[in-house]
Amino acid sequence: MPAGNAHSASPRSGVRLLLGAWLLLPLSAPCFGQAAGAPAINPGGIVSAASYGTAVAPGSIAAVFGNFLLSSPSWASTLPLPTNLSQLSMQFDGALAVPLFYTDGGQVNIQIPWELAGHERAMLTVTVNGQTSAPQAIDLVAYAPGIFTTNMQGSGQGAILDLSNRLVDPSNPATAGSTVVVIYCTGLGAVTNRPASASASSVNPLAVATNTPAVSIGGAPAQVLFAGLVPGMVGEYQVNALVPVNSATGDAVPVTISVGGYTSNAATIAVQAPSAQMDPDYRAGVLLAQMTQDEKLQLVHGAGGPVTNIPPLPRGAGGFIPEIRRLGIPALYFVDGSVGLADASAPATALPSSIASAASWDLGLAYKYGSVIGAEMRAYGLNVNLGGNVNLTGREPRDGRTFETKGEDPILAGRITAAHIRAIQDQHVVGGIKHYALNDQETGRTTANAQIEERGARESDLLAFEIGLKDSNVQSVMCSYNLVNGVYACQNPHLLNEVLKGDWGFRGFVMSDWWATPSTAAAALAGLDQEQPDNAFFGSLGQAIARGQVPQSRLDDMVHRILRAMYQSGLFDFPEALAPVDTATGQAIAQEAEEQGAVLLKNAGAQLPLDASSIHSIAVIGSHADVAVLSGGGSAQVWPTGGPARTDGRPNPPGWSWVVWDPSSPLSAIRAKAPQATVRFDDGTNRTRAASTAASSEVAIVFVSQWASEGMDLPSLNFTDVINATPIDQDALVAAVAAANPHTIVVLENGGAQVMPWLGSVSAVLEAWYPGQRGGEAIANLLFGAVNPSGKLPMTFPASVADLPHPTIASPPNNSTTPFLVDYSEGFNVGYKWSDANNLTPLFPFGFGLSYTTFSFSNPRLVDNLASGNPNFRVTFDLKNMGPVAGAEVAQVYLGLPASTGEPPRRLVGWQKVFLESGALQHVTVEVDQNDSSHPMSYWDTGSHSWRIAPGDYTVYLGNSSASASLTVVGTLHVGP
Ligand code: BGC
Repeated sequence: MPAGNAHSASPRSGVRLLLGAWLLLPLSAPCFGQAAGAPAINPGGIVSAASYGTAVAPGSIAAVFGNFLLSSPSWASTLPLPTNLSQLSMQFDGALAVPLFYTDGGQVNIQIPWELAGHERAMLTVTVNGQTSAPQAIDLVAYAPGIFTTNMQGSGQGAILDLSNRLVDPSNPATAGSTVVVIYCTGLGAVTNRPASASASSVNPLAVATNTPAVSIGGAPAQVLFAGLVPGMVGEYQVNALVPVNSATGDAVPVTISVGGYTSNAATIAVQAPSAQMDPDYRAGVLLAQMTQDEKLQLVHGAGGPVTNIPPLPRGAGGFIPEIRRLGIPALYFVDGSVGLADASAPATALPSSIASAASWDLGLAYKYGSVIGAEMRAYGLNVNLGGNVNLTGREPRDGRTFETKGEDPILAGRITAAHIRAIQDQHVVGGIKHYALNDQETGRTTANAQIEERGARESDLLAFEIGLKDSNVQSVMCSYNLVNGVYACQNPHLLNEVLKGDWGFRGFVMSDWWATPSTAAAALAGLDQEQPDNAFFGSLGQAIARGQVPQSRLDDMVHRILRAMYQSGLFDFPEALAPVDTATGQAIAQEAEEQGAVLLKNAGAQLPLDASSIHSIAVIGSHADVAVLSGGGSAQVWPTGGPARTDGRPNPPGWSWVVWDPSSPLSAIRAKAPQATVRFDDGTNRTRAASTAASSEVAIVFVSQWASEGMDLPSLNFTDVINATPIDQDALVAAVAAANPHTIVVLENGGAQVMPWLGSVSAVLEAWYPGQRGGEAIANLLFGAVNPSGKLPMTFPASVADLPHPTIASPPNNSTTPFLVDYSEGFNVGYKWSDANNLTPLFPFGFGLSYTTFSFSNPRLVDNLASGNPNFRVTFDLKNMGPVAGAEVAQVYLGLPASTGEPPRRLVGWQKVFLESGALQHVTVEVDQNDSSHPMSYWDTGSHSWRIAPGDYTVYLGNSSASASLTVVGTLHVGP
């Protein structure tokens, strides 16, 4: 399902309808120029077609007023828009043709060409029947948001609609807290004049701007559920926003859109107070009051597993709670889904691993990724998602589950996870985030005691959860197996009651990881709301209440939280609708996620992209690349649609997970790209033979893979064959091939950081992660340049395990079951922060990735708005694509806090992924909001147990990786006297 589809209903699709609205002259329209022999544009007569303001942005729709010597109106009904209507054409700076929507004698509607992005001023001329007007200047800005305030019936009340396409006005007011409004606007950034045909486009190649606008309704910030081009439209954006629960109410409540520091005109809508009857907590309370004690107890534990013993669970679920038919409470079917729908459910789309989604640094695409999981859950009737793995990778990159995570940085990981969860919950299933908390290694995971001081925890792993949770409104949290500071996570009052439910205000429910509940009364009192997957402990909760060990109010609170999560996610209002899985859409998104998430790590001598027209022979070597790509194992394992290309037996450890090879053949995809070339495959089991195949080919492409799974950690960061009885030494294989062929390209299929002893002898390296079931096609597109790589590492690749905070993985002594210490003395210094703080040079830094083009950053400026009512700072700059091909760059902003705080040298605080055509320049703004969920300027103060901003100087850096050499100082912010 395309991004935002759930909210992207376009009631006014089609050019003609919109023209109807734009034909209307604003009351304030500049008056006509005097009739004369040549056409004329009125001075100041070029205005935004939405707001009528004189600031206009490239890509947006403008109205031009003047004398155009035409007697009858004319309009365009074709897309892309024409540049000549009724013998009238327009030009910017004498040359650039202007797309036209509409012309008549006194008004012409145009799209400001997106090619003007980055220009500050341009001169417009009009030519009618061979006569050209005098030029008129317009001032251009990067953003000039304007809301269309004219409805189809005439001017007056705004044209903002609800999701059933009705005008939101006094006869149909929005309800605070529950109505989603659809706002049509222009000026959100440069876009091409080719429309997105089928779906609202959020990224390349159509939309250049990727800034999500902020929407204010009735003086309160509104949650933006979708922002992108209107499907099939040019220069017009659609923003869907939830009317905030705390909005002002009345018949003329103002709505504004802000982006890049610019705020739109205010449109008005009618808003009524929230309906108490629709509030999930209200509804949960009403239902709870009708429940018997047995019915309540039924909801607080699973009904599967060795205690209750009803496997296999219905619908292939990994957990199950039966319905309570008497009260219409639906059954809960729990299912894994971090990298696609997992467990024993029917086949599902195998997405690239979620670490690849993080490597795209693209929140719009991450939303699409989540929408595949949510849509397939809904189609199969599974309604509680167990995905959302946000554990940070930096402390232990050998962890067997890194492929399920979103990397080492709390902000990147938190925001990508939140995008996945929002998309999943938008499909009316309960979303989940896990494993709370500090579950960073699989070795001894049920007895590992993660020891960490308060500030280190708050500023690293807990911060990732805080962002993921607050930015998504997730409704379930899974507590982890391990102990944190001596107390099991699932009976840890500090983690559950104080931090999660207290400080962060989490109102959904906490479930245990599978068999991770350690007790009955202690766990219940600490804040655990549901035991999974069975009832070893919460089966006796009724007795514990009867004995007075647990108050009845605690059980009521548990049940209330579960019911409110079900109401909030729509389980009651959107009853299940089983349907066939839309595998075509899923696979298209899987391919796009891989294409945007693969990271080009090395490209010596412009080895890539390969030129299909000149290449005669290619050797493809290793990793079953003739038929398949690798996937990660464990509970996140997806059984791909169409079935695996092959499986291998269960490596030990972990001993219980199959190795699944997804059905996508890199070899076939490479052959399809280079039909003229001889493409030979060697399985890589005999490196002498592989080297000789490579020696007799122009180019060798070696596929190197590292299987990993829940239930195991990797023995090292080297590629280690844990699958075959006779292990293949893949490092030696690459070295042998590279010695035989100087044009050796290595494609990595793995879940996390690796070391590469052969790096100096190969010409190119592409990190493909576990690429998903369209991985072969995506990899071939990247190798041959049909897609330009734009992924950036979401985790540091250290030079050696010796550079990790824990060179040796802490293990339980003699496999004992008593807790053992995992000492996180590195605190918040995770990943690149560890490298920076210790002056270590990684093999590849966090945020790094190459492209087939180059980008230049120029005119960086720092705008200090810290003293304003909405404290923030902005980094603005011009980004130019200097090379011959289109591509995307991820501009990254890092912040150095005052030395007095003892923070690491820099931390990521914001970024923007920008797509640019060859030669194009865009003025880009990255805004960092002091008060957002990531606390970008704060440190955790252990004295007051709160976030604090220290006085002193804050250094702002801009660049395209975390490495100091790729960063420039934009300026300094000063806080305090
Ligand atoms: C994993 C969880 C998973 C659960 C259910 C556990 O072993 O740690 O991530 O959701 O199983 O499959």
